[in-house]
Amino acid sequence: MKIVELRECTVPLQGNISNALVNFSSHSVSLIAVITDVVRNGQPVSGIAFNSIGRFAQGGLLRERFFPRLMAAPAETLLKTDSSGFDPAKVLALVMANEKPGGHGDRAAAVGGLELAFWDLNSKLAGEPAYRQIAASYGNNTVGETVPVYAAGGYYHPQKRLNGLVDELKGYQDLGFQDFKIKIGGASLSEDIKRLEAAIKIAGSSHRIAVDANGRFDLETAQNYARELAEYELRWFEEPGDPLDFELNRHISKAYVGPIATGENLFSTVDTLNLVRYGGMRTDKDIFQMDPGLSYGLTEFARMLGVIETAGHSRSFVYPHGGHMINLHVVLGLGLGGCEAYPGVFQPFGGYASGCLDGQGRARAIEAPGFGLEAKPGLKPWIDRLLA
Ligand code: MG
Repeated sequence: MKIVELRECTVPLQGNISNALVNFSSHSVSLIAVITDVVRNGQPVSGIAFNSIGRFAQGGLLRERFFPRLMAAPAETLLKTDSSGFDPAKVLALVMANEKPGGHGDRAAAVGGLELAFWDLNSKLAGEPAYRQIAASYGNNTVGETVPVYAAGGYYHPQKRLNGLVDELKGYQDLGFQDFKIKIGGASLSEDIKRLEAAIKIAGSSHRIAVDANGRFDLETAQNYARELAEYELRWFEEPGDPLDFELNRHISKAYVGPIATGENLFSTVDTLNLVRYGGMRTDKDIFQMDPGLSYGLTEFARMLGVIETAGHSRSFVYPHGGHMINLHVVLGLGLGGCEAYPGVFQPFGGYASGCLDGQGRARAIEAPGFGLEAKPGLKPWIDRLLA
């Protein structure tokens, strides 16, 4: 078994929405294919994945550095010991040859999407959904059928303002979501509190609402927000300050009695180690949100899980950033706390294939082999184009 070709296509992300720092109208995602010489039903078996959402497409890095390294490797050096598929850890080690440690930026997303394509490939070779392949690989014998899922959104609607937020959350509720996350930090504190109270009214309980500052605040602003937010007993307060400012995170974890969530912008095991060493994360409440597609793939993600569990945290407090089909399989396969969902936004990657949402705040994977990306109507034409 060998790799015949590696391909990438850059797919524009649909949606002109903003959080406190970023407008996504010009964002893009790399859709990646690993095409093998294994032929089934007249077609080569191919692994498909993408580098999550939020860090742009990485076609340049993939074509200039990572694809050539893989194509130059003798096929047998990449295979699992039983030759049933490719060993993602060997793939990761090989593509990272001659890369210096530290400075995990865009290359972490490039490699993340590429490594995940091998998980899709292995699952297709085995004829099983990816979550089963993931569970077996990491010794998880108790895979649940469904996982909790929350709707992430609550964007700023400059024209419709508060009514826009209310309409958006009611729309998610109509889809069966019960828990929601809204943006803060893109308006004044008093306006954000009005938005929060409107969201709580719709959800019926403050425990169902999380807020996300997207790393926007300096220490003083984060403390001001923490003071105001504390009385609401929210689901969590996400990324109050810069994701690499562990000192700020530690201050807020002391000042804010509710759960803090962070980690979506940490791309390596060592970054995660620094968060648990210096960020003040509390084992009984705080939430980790690392995202395999942004952080070198599932192999590195599993190492991050090892770091937080060694520090006494439970994987039931891990809710990966992402809101798409790949991370649904990751959450199911590794038995994590739950999933994010981006209903209707960040297309064609955000959200799930039909049949995944149970209408009562939980999600299941479809049983198609791999991540099931081909079952997502908006994504299928891009996959067809990539493989044509
Ligand atoms: Mg976030």
